Amino acid sequence: MKVVHYPHPALVHPTRPLTSIDKKLHLQVGEMIDTMYEARGLGLAANQIALPYQLLVMNVSGDPEQKEHEKVYINPVIVEKIGAQEGDEGCLSFPELFQKVRRARTVKVQAYNLKGEAVEVTAHDLEARCWQHEIDHLNGIVFINKMGPLARLAARGAVKDFERRFREAQKRGEIPLDAELERILKALEGELDEPEKQNGTPPPLPG
Ligand SMILES: [Zn+2]
Repeated sequence: MKVVHYPHPALVHPTRPLTSIDKKLHLQVGEMIDTMYEARGLGLAANQIALPYQLLVMNVSGDPEQKEHEKVYINPVIVEKIGAQEGDEGCLSFPELFQKVRRARTVKVQAYNLKGEAVEVTAHDLEARCWQHEIDHLNGIVFINKMGPLARLAARGAVKDFERRFREAQKRGEIPLDAELERILKALEGELDEPEKQNGTPPPLPG
């Protein structure tokens, strides 16, 4: 499992809510957690590994040993944002790029855990930043879209380099072309509609 880099189409592809929790999902979550730690991230959204699902993993401590901070969230929604914070932010899909991004200081989030139980989380500061960053991902928004004009200008060269490297890798055949990547995403979405997926615990969608 590899983290996809900008401008991979999965990063702008709106993710679908999950309607059941089955063995396959547990396996995917396990791989996402390993991938997050390997990449030294604090969080990872499913579409960053090209799975178009409303699913994210998080460990704000960044420390694989601190299992108590290891979290899995399904169909998360921010229901309240309070205050503001400005600080440096990075993204595993834009390696080495850090810029200032303004975020809410506190967020209240509703989601489901891997047992299908509804959970409500209130997060502050770094954890709140992490939530907003990951939920943006699930909505097809990347952090360069959230930068102010100055940060965006400063990031322009790096963003162009990401685009150039991605297109070159596609030309070399190392990454499939966009049309093929879109087809794979559609096929993965279709798997949600397969009848055998209906046997897991169905989490109701957050209202
Ligand atoms: Zn990111």
